[in-house]
Amino acid sequence: MRKPSLLMVCCALTLTLVGCNTSNQNETEEADNKPAETEQQTETPAAAPTDTEDEVVEEAPATEAEPPAEDKPAEEPAADEPEAEEAPVVEAPPAEEPAQTPSEPLEQNGTANVNLDTLILVNKQIALPAGYKPNDLVTANVDFVDTATGERRMLRKEAAQAIEKLMAGAKTAGIDLKGTSAFRSYDYQVQLFNAYVAKDGKEQAMKYSAPPGHSEHQTGLAIDVSSASVGYQLTQSLEQTKEGKWLADNAHKYGFIVRYQRAYEGQTGYMFEPWHLRYIGVEHATTVHKTNVPFERYLEQLMN
Ligand SMILES: [Zn+2]
Repeated sequence: MRKPSLLMVCCALTLTLVGCNTSNQNETEEADNKPAETEQQTETPAAAPTDTEDEVVEEAPATEAEPPAEDKPAEEPAADEPEAEEAPVVEAPPAEEPAQTPSEPLEQNGTANVNLDTLILVNKQIALPAGYKPNDLVTANVDFVDTATGERRMLRKEAAQAIEKLMAGAKTAGIDLKGTSAFRSYDYQVQLFNAYVAKDGKEQAMKYSAPPGHSEHQTGLAIDVSSASVGYQLTQSLEQTKEGKWLADNAHKYGFIVRYQRAYEGQTGYMFEPWHLRYIGVEHATTVHKTNVPFERYLEQLMN
């Protein structure tokens, strides 16, 4: 009995010592080889996103032939209406300033001209400069779906103030809306787009999602919104709901356009997205709404 137990103690001691040495060595080697900054790598999210931003829920697109609601502006657009009832938010300057006519090119060699500010043009042909991120992003103080977290609740300051007014106006009108996704970084769009390509193939993915650098969401001027009546999904059937109709008829009063209309599909290359709002300021949005042209055409007209 004694012998084995002594032996066991010795073995255990040896193992312990070996273990200590080994782990010490490893730690030392790691510390030597690793600069401190590499810790950041652990933050990289591994999994592809599972949410459905800008992805149309597969449903029968109901009324293809029906003209878009924008064709019939029933009421006179009152540009200053949203401000009338609102308690001014702290320092907020009014979103509507005299509309400026861009005197600069819309793009150069396929890269968007960021000097156009809130009129910046990004589409399938024109990408944002590499690594572009607006420097005035703030969290929009509106209701969002739970899956929208962190940066995805952010917009550029002016657009954030405008969506807050839009949501307040909607509430007053008995319209229930929530944001589903606002700002998206270049890196996030990489994940999202790759996931869509893996799922549906590139050709199909291109119809409802943007390759990295080509998403309006990266400008901090775009937000997707939806309503309880369609389960807060991004679905074309939002168009038939009272919330979708309200958006189509009123978004411009707060400086937003429904950027991808059914009638523009051939020109924008995007499917009709009744949920995707792009901020361009009240005056411009009102004109785009009245004239019912794609944003690209509007900018070209403005500059001629
Ligand atoms: Zn969108």
